Amino acid sequence: MNIINSNLKFRNGLTYGNNPKMVILHHADSVRCSIEDIHNWHLANGWSGCGYHYLVRKNGMIYTGRNEKAVGAHCIKYNTVSIGICCEGNFNTDGMGSAQYSALIDLIKSTLNRYGISKIHGHGELNSTDCPGNKFPLNRIRREVSEQKISLIYPGYLLKMNSSLFDGNVKVVQEKLLGIGYNVGKYGADGYFGKDTSEAVRRFQKDRGLLVDGIVGRDTWGKLFG
Ligand SMILES: [Zn+2]
Repeated sequence: MNIINSNLKFRNGLTYGNNPKMVILHHADSVRCSIEDIHNWHLANGWSGCGYHYLVRKNGMIYTGRNEKAVGAHCIKYNTVSIGICCEGNFNTDGMGSAQYSALIDLIKSTLNRYGISKIHGHGELNSTDCPGNKFPLNRIRREVSEQKISLIYPGYLLKMNSSLFDGNVKVVQEKLLGIGYNVGKYGADGYFGKDTSEAVRRFQKDRGLLVDGIVGRDTWGKLFG
């Protein structure tokens, strides 16, 4: 995945504290446009600048808009709880080409994984708008992103502290915990379920309202990968 830092200059600063619970997808409603075009359009609206967090162009290049931690300006009532991704194009008139589609899928998957979230919405599901267009492949995207998750099925036994036994499922859990911001200790995702991994599991369980026992059973696995 190739993300280009656009270095946009925002007017009057941005508001921080975005707490993403979902990804919201948009189209630019323009057949051809750059991140700078969008930035200028949104400045002309009187906003601080580009309201989205990312733009995915038709050639598959991804450009940064606002910092992910900044509150967006792309979906009324949801700007403090979402990552806004815009796709170059008008998907009322055109379908999406494969370079743009696969870059978008990568960006959505990595965003969802980073925040440990799973919701994907089209703008028009949340606000009264035809964005991102009736030819936008929303259902195909949802299907493809959720299929990846089904492959991470619960292994069928409890994963618990045992620092002398390597377990590939433990490694998968550690990688996931690291990816969503839980430190699993100085050895990282090594496949050994030591004290630091158990502590990380406990913190995750506490944050997600699960029984806090430091053991990965079906419920904790489901929250990690569901
Ligand atoms: Zn939109």
